[in-house]
Amino acid sequence: MVSARFRFYEELNDFLAPQHRGREFSRSCARAATTKHMIEALGVPHTEVELVLVNGESVGFDRILHDGDRVSVYPKFEAFDVAPLLRVRDRPLRESRFVADAHLGGLARLLRMAGFDTLYDNGFHDDEIESIAGREQRIVLTRDRELLKRRTITHGCYVRALKAQEQFAEIVGRLDLARSARPFRLCLHCNAPLQPVEMARIVDRLPPTVRLRYRRFSTCAVCRRVFWEGSHWQRMNALLRATLGTGGEDRMAIPHAVSGQRIDVRPLGDDLPTARTVALFKSAQLEAIRMVLPAGKPVPVHQVPGEITIQCLEGRIELTFDGRRQELAAGEMMFLAGGVAHGLVGLEDSSALVTIVLGD
Ligand SMILES: [Zn+2]
Repeated sequence: MVSARFRFYEELNDFLAPQHRGREFSRSCARAATTKHMIEALGVPHTEVELVLVNGESVGFDRILHDGDRVSVYPKFEAFDVAPLLRVRDRPLRESRFVADAHLGGLARLLRMAGFDTLYDNGFHDDEIESIAGREQRIVLTRDRELLKRRTITHGCYVRALKAQEQFAEIVGRLDLARSARPFRLCLHCNAPLQPVEMARIVDRLPPTVRLRYRRFSTCAVCRRVFWEGSHWQRMNALLRATLGTGGEDRMAIPHAVSGQRIDVRPLGDDLPTARTVALFKSAQLEAIRMVLPAGKPVPVHQVPGEITIQCLEGRIELTFDGRRQELAAGEMMFLAGGVAHGLVGLEDSSALVTIVLGD
């Protein structure tokens, strides 16, 4: 017989005998017993377990226990980032798809905005939520602890915060969602995917001011609503960036174009002051960026290995390279060989189409 010490965390304690809850305890194990054998022998279903550490190291369910091992067992939604440590399964149990209970409409919309498939209907009863969760492998979001105790609900998350934005921040943090966010790909109303749409096809559905000011549109196939990057979009974008944190910037970009897709690079005009640099596409060998250069705000001198082109789309840009300065007006472009150190500054509010050759 060997003896190991165990500690279970958070709600896994509910499965343990009372004297084992919330503390470390010793337990004899049969020879060649694995972590899985012992966890289940102690009453905890292995399906509830996200992460097992033995002596501080992440292990699989088949790890054989040795005398003196210290075993820490964490549930699926322990509030720290388990992704780098994960070894019990190839990927986290959690599919980041949700069903929100009837009181969490605001949270549902924010999750959809960040690109997470979230079912919600303020008419959902607990039984419906339970059956949807089981059938579609969705994580239940609720402020009702009793709902989460239902046996068939295997993935659930108790939402502590009361306000939608705080709930969103809580869920993003606890479930480590920031890295998998894909904002603005789902309809906030229907949870259906949005598709880019050419302006000509929906122009009759747009208010006149919107026709003049915006050029990029997407539409929902279910409710047929049309979306553009207006003030509401900008407020949501700011909220997402605040919640998803640094590094969210790239993810805010309009979805990258695919081969054969038209890309609108016409001047931004009135939108320029509030526009941001976005990546238009990135393949293995080429990246294209619409760079926004507010007047007087320099991009410091830097260099990239690959060749680049810079085309001024609007405004005036000053380029510095090889100790020289060169101005580019709208409609002019420049090619720079790979490795040439260069800096940029908008002499007035400007945008430029920049392509960069990647790879070797
Ligand atoms: Zn819709």
